[in-house]
Amino acid sequence: GELNIREFDYFKLALQWPGTFCKSTRHCCSKNACCRGSNAPTEFTIHGLWPDYNDGTWPSCCSRSDFDPKEISTLVDGLEKYWPTLSCSSPSKCHGGREKHGTCSYPVIRDEYHYFLTGLNVYFKYNVTRVLYEAGYVPSNTEKYPVGGIISAIQNAFHITPSIVCSKDSIKELHLCFYKDFTPRDCATVSSINIEMVTSKASCPKYVSLPIHVS
Ligand code: 5GP
Ligand code: 5GP
Repeated sequence: GELNIREFDYFKLALQWPGTFCKSTRHCCSKNACCRGSNAPTEFTIHGLWPDYNDGTWPSCCSRSDFDPKEISTLVDGLEKYWPTLSCSSPSKCHGGREKHGTCSYPVIRDEYHYFLTGLNVYFKYNVTRVLYEAGYVPSNTEKYPVGGIISAIQNAFHITPSIVCSKDSIKELHLCFYKDFTPRDCATVSSINIEMVTSKASCPKYVSLPIHVS
């Protein structure tokens, strides 16, 4: 049945850096992407397309309707590559499952198929890995980069301010935000935004890395 939940305000495309996530998990498991080939992917992959409220909270698990794998069978290859599961633990019905956020996106997004298709399309349109690469921020286990420079590179490319999450001195996630029609917007909801604010709110030190995980 439908739950009566207030419609969200905007979308957050949460990208994750697999090298950082995989470093923190103890082992490879057959179903995760940490061990694909011998390395984790060296590009940002999709963690989720998340509907959010402007007040910093978010809805989750908005309907009990089941996730139907058949609806996205034509997207499976793209999802495995670009929206992979990095965790080894089995998702429960909602938590850890891809439907956790998807079900809160309706009816702004029409259905399950379009939710995943939209996530992939937005991911390809706003290629963060490429933008950082072109600015000289390349995957490395030895180099460290200024967080301010990374944020500037995204601002210059997409004219919006992302948010960024670190684990120790490694980038863990980078978030891009969008209005409900998928025009880009800043992730912070305050009106005056500068790099100092973004970096001080983030869990990141001044210099961060994009590590390469070798299993
Ligand atoms: P974490 O503890 O890793 O920051 O977040 C755990 C989970 O909470 C995420 O995987 C995601 O499902 C949800 N979550 C965390 N931050 C946000 C957010 O800003 N927006 C939404 N919609 N979900 C979030
Ligand atoms: P949720 O699955 O509720 O969105 O996130 C809960 C927790 O599951 C996350 O904070 C994270 O520790 C773990 N998790 C499960 N799958 C993934 C994944 O593919 N990427 C990341 N970053 N975390 C995951």
